[in-house]
Amino acid sequence: MPAPAYNSLLDTPTYPAERYAPLADRLKRLLATESDLLFIQAEAILSLEAIATSIARPGLSAINVITSPYGAYFGAWLRRGGVAVTDVVAEPGQPIAASAVKAAIAALPSVDIVAVVHGEAANGALNPIATIAADARAAGALVVVDAVASFGGHPLAIDALGIDIAAIGPQKALGGPVGLSAVTVSARGWAAIGKVPSFSPSILSLQELKENWLDRGRGVLPGTPSPLEFWALEAAIDRIEAEGLETLVARHQLAARASRAGLRALGLEPWIRDDDAASALVTAAPVPAGVDAEALIAAAGRFGVALGRGFGDIKDRLVRFDHTGARAAFPSVVAAVVAYGAALEGFGIAVDVGAAAEAVARSYAKAAA
Ligand SMILES: *Cc1c(COP(=O)(O)O)cnc(C)c1O
Repeated sequence: MPAPAYNSLLDTPTYPAERYAPLADRLKRLLATESDLLFIQAEAILSLEAIATSIARPGLSAINVITSPYGAYFGAWLRRGGVAVTDVVAEPGQPIAASAVKAAIAALPSVDIVAVVHGEAANGALNPIATIAADARAAGALVVVDAVASFGGHPLAIDALGIDIAAIGPQKALGGPVGLSAVTVSARGWAAIGKVPSFSPSILSLQELKENWLDRGRGVLPGTPSPLEFWALEAAIDRIEAEGLETLVARHQLAARASRAGLRALGLEPWIRDDDAASALVTAAPVPAGVDAEALIAAAGRFGVALGRGFGDIKDRLVRFDHTGARAAFPSVVAAVVAYGAALEGFGIAVDVGAAAEAVARSYAKAAA
């Protein structure tokens, strides 16, 4: 492969101070929120750690939903800050049932924080955040949502859902840069953050970012902002606004629908069985008994298709079709389904690859009609 023109990335013009506020406002519009939006100058995992660290204090009680490693990390950061955390853990790689969260809330004398991931890139699960957020609100708890892998792939109206604090990242459905992320904070969110004793100076302090950026008119960010990341985020938002957020979401939903139709036509069930509980960014496919996940990924690789690995307990049981961003399109979707099916055939599994290709094509033809 010829080297890209890296030299065009050097001597980047500074990202002008007056562009930060409009950029934040454009993201707020896409998220349908009046909450404040803070830019975090790091990948989204740091946004999550900053949220946990900024709301955690001894004496608080939290319900923490775990449907992937991200939820486990979040619970650990809350505990580090002295919060009494009750984990509500789903079956490995599966979404949580809203009833399990509701029961956990009811079992505690009071709950201050409910934290949950919306869409999971790790296993393709989609958690029922509307119900969870409503139940959390009814209990008077702060609602914290990791929406990194759902924004752009699923409807995400922050205020209508009653989300107090959300983490988002541009690098999944938005197809933007990885080295930058964002956090929305409602008035209730700020009230909770304001009760935590100051731990400035800290890159994890949302309170400090409020004082040094938001309250000072949202000009240039403290520290040394990376112009590359901000120009790239602006370009990603330009592209989303041109496509239309609804079109972007629909494109991801179609990719998921077509992938799932393809799996079923192969003769297999998607890893997440319920269509309404499946992420639109990633479709997890089963690794049939007797097949080695690594060998399956290698076999698909020989077709030029990169299947994703599972994580943790389930890493041998599923592979992931990543239809995120530009990959939420027919060529990537059909290639993943066909390569996965053909690779399985190579391991002696009886699947109908032709029917799978046809099912994907039919999903796209129906959407185009
Ligand atoms: C991708 C992702 C993140 C952020 O991970 P980074 O490695 O920092 O990009 C957080 N939560 C979820 C659910 C994700 O899918």
